[in-house]
Amino acid sequence: MKLVLATSNKGKVREIKALCKEYDVIPYTELIDEFEIVEDADTFQENALIKARAVYKALGEEDAVVLADDSGISVDILNGAPGIYSARYGGKDADDKENLKKLMQDIRAKGVTNSPAHYTAAIAIVTKEIEKTVHGWMHGKAITEAKGEGGFGYDPMFVPLGYEKTLGELDEEVKKELSHRSQALHLAGKILKSL
Ligand code: IMP
Repeated sequence: MKLVLATSNKGKVREIKALCKEYDVIPYTELIDEFEIVEDADTFQENALIKARAVYKALGEEDAVVLADDSGISVDILNGAPGIYSARYGGKDADDKENLKKLMQDIRAKGVTNSPAHYTAAIAIVTKEIEKTVHGWMHGKAITEAKGEGGFGYDPMFVPLGYEKTLGELDEEVKKELSHRSQALHLAGKILKSL
């Protein structure tokens, strides 16, 4: 089955492809021109639905199966920020490095060197017949130093619960096993199988 991803984020595409090997996973930008999707909802769940619906509509293919991931990191000492604003925490056009730098600075500004934190992933699946969403979470701590080159986004500053190293340093198999995205995709897999 062809599974169209409503994202062009290279890190997400790489991880979703590795976790959904039984499907023909294609980012929508390989099928149609990239377009701006305004994610203006208050929750990961609603934003994932906005993306999946927008891509389903733009494809104009009745039989398309579209999967969207809306995700982010929430840091306890920052009252859950950046949360749904994770992709643009460092400013509207900020890249992963700028976002990471700002988050480390903001935690340091609270006078600590780490804080409990968690990642959330909401996955939406939209087809002609259904609109469904599932969630996954990964708990751990956010630290104020970036370590390692693995993963993407905030991974160099995130230490999963039960580990001493960041996701940037740990083998990618560890993230595959533990991540918010893998948990959510595991549930999404059950929906996809029922189509
Ligand atoms: P979205 O594309 O609007 O869902 O934004 C997600 C943002 O959250 C990304 O740009 C990353 O900054 C962050 N993020 C989500 N999942 C991960 C992850 O697995 N590792 C690191 N950062 C992530």
